[in-house]
Amino acid sequence: MGIHRQLCFLASLLLVIHAAPITEPVDEYDIAKKYLMSFYNLVYEAPDPTARYPDPLPGKLEEMQEFFGLRVTGTLDKETLEVMKKPRCGVPDVGAYTTFGGAPKWETNRLTYRIENYTPDMSVAEVDESIERAVQVWAEVTPLKFTRVNMGTADIMISFAVKGEKKTNKLFFTDHGDGMMFDGPLGTLAHAFPPGSGLGGDAHFDDDESFTFRSSKAFVLFLVAAHEFGHSLGLSHSNIPNALMFPTYNFTDPDRSPLSSNDIDEIQSLYGPPNCQNLVWDAVTTFRGETVFFKNGFYWRKSQSNTVIQLPIRSFWPNAPDNVDAAYEDPAQDKLFLFKGTQVWAFNGQNLEPGYPKPLSSFGLPASVTKINATVHNKNTGKTLLFFDKSYYRYDERLNQMDEGYPKRVEDVFVGLTGEVTAAHMTNNNIYLFSGKKLFEFRMFLHLLFPRLLRSNYFLPC
Ligand SMILES: [Zn+2]
Ligand SMILES: [Zn+2]
Repeated sequence: MGIHRQLCFLASLLLVIHAAPITEPVDEYDIAKKYLMSFYNLVYEAPDPTARYPDPLPGKLEEMQEFFGLRVTGTLDKETLEVMKKPRCGVPDVGAYTTFGGAPKWETNRLTYRIENYTPDMSVAEVDESIERAVQVWAEVTPLKFTRVNMGTADIMISFAVKGEKKTNKLFFTDHGDGMMFDGPLGTLAHAFPPGSGLGGDAHFDDDESFTFRSSKAFVLFLVAAHEFGHSLGLSHSNIPNALMFPTYNFTDPDRSPLSSNDIDEIQSLYGPPNCQNLVWDAVTTFRGETVFFKNGFYWRKSQSNTVIQLPIRSFWPNAPDNVDAAYEDPAQDKLFLFKGTQVWAFNGQNLEPGYPKPLSSFGLPASVTKINATVHNKNTGKTLLFFDKSYYRYDERLNQMDEGYPKRVEDVFVGLTGEVTAAHMTNNNIYLFSGKKLFEFRMFLHLLFPRLLRSNYFLPC
C-alpha cells in the first residue's frame, strides 16, 4: 500500500469515526417514524417536491407521548425513545379496532382455540398450560367458556412464526399469511386480531423471542398470550400502566391473575360478569353494610346501581392473600378477618392490622385443623363459628377464647345440612350457609333454627 493510499485509508477511517455521531440521530428518527407508522397510524403523503406538507410526525409524537403518560413535547426526547425501544405488542395503540365503528365482540359465549404449532423455547406441556391459563384469565371474569380443539378451524387459531425462513441457504422473509411481518428479537412480541371470521381472533407469536414458562429473564408466554387474547376478544390497548392491555410487556407474578380492574371493566363492558349461579364461593361476608363474595382472587359485590361488580381482592386489600378460604366481619371491633390455609389476616377497612397474619392457633384451634372452610360471626352474641370438614368450633370474640363443648357436628345443629359448609354469612339476623352450590337459610326464632333452601344466587343475582 503506497503512502498516498494509506493516507486515503486513514482519512476514510476518520470520516467514518467522525460520521458515527452524526448518523445516530437519523437512526433514532427512523425508529420513531417506523414506530409511529406501526402503532399511531402515521401516514406520509406521496412525495411531491412542489407541495409543502406540514410534517405529521410531531403531532403523532404528541399523541404517543400522551398515551404513555410522557411529557407531551412533540419532539423525540430521550424518555420517548426509551418507551419506543421497549418490547411490546404489535397491535396499534390508536385506530386499531375502530375502523368499522363500535366495539367488535363474539356473538357467542362458547369459543374454541387451537394451538397450531409450538415454540422450541418450552416443552409442549408448558406451552399448552400457558395458553390454557391465558384463556382462563378472561373466562374467570366473563361468561365466556373456552374449549381446546386439535383440528379444523377454531375461533382463536394460535401459532408461532418468525420474520425470515431459511430455505436452501437463502433467507426468505414472510408475513406468515396476514400481511404483518415480525421483526426478529425484541420489538414486537406478538399480535392478534379482533373477533371475526378468517383471521379474526387469531393470535401470532414472534418466535424470534425467547419465551418462558415463568422466568423473569425471558418473556412469560402466559402473560404475552393473556394480553393477546384480550385483543382476540375485542379489547384495544389501555393507557393505564398496570393494565394487562397496556401495550408494552410487563413481568408480573405468573401465579396471579394479571388483570387490573381496568381490564375487568373493559371486558365486562363487552360480555358482562360471569354467571354466578353456578359458582361455588370461596367465602362470603358482610363488610360495612354490604355482602361481599370471594372467588379465585376476586371479590364481588353489588354496586350502588345494583349491578354486580367483580374486582381483584388485592385492588382493595393490597396485603390480603391471593385467594381466601373463609371470611367474616366483627362490627364491634370493626375488623374483617380473611383465612387462607393455616393463617388469618385482620383488616380495619383496607389496612392490615399490626401483628397479622397470625396462625390459626391464635384462635385456640388445635394443630390438626390446617384449613377453615367457612366462618360466620353473629353480632348479636359476639360468637364466631369456624367450619372445617363437617364440624365447627365456636369462638367468643369478647372473651378471646373457644367455647367449651366444641367441635360439634354441623348436621346436629343445622338440620338438613349434611355436606361441608363452604361459605357462610349472617344478614338480617339470619345465618346463611353455602354447601357447594346449595344455599341454606337458617332463621332464628325463639332460639330455634328454621331452615329453608334458597337459590344459590339469592344475594347476587347474576
Ligand atoms: Zn396488544
Ligand atoms: Zn400474524
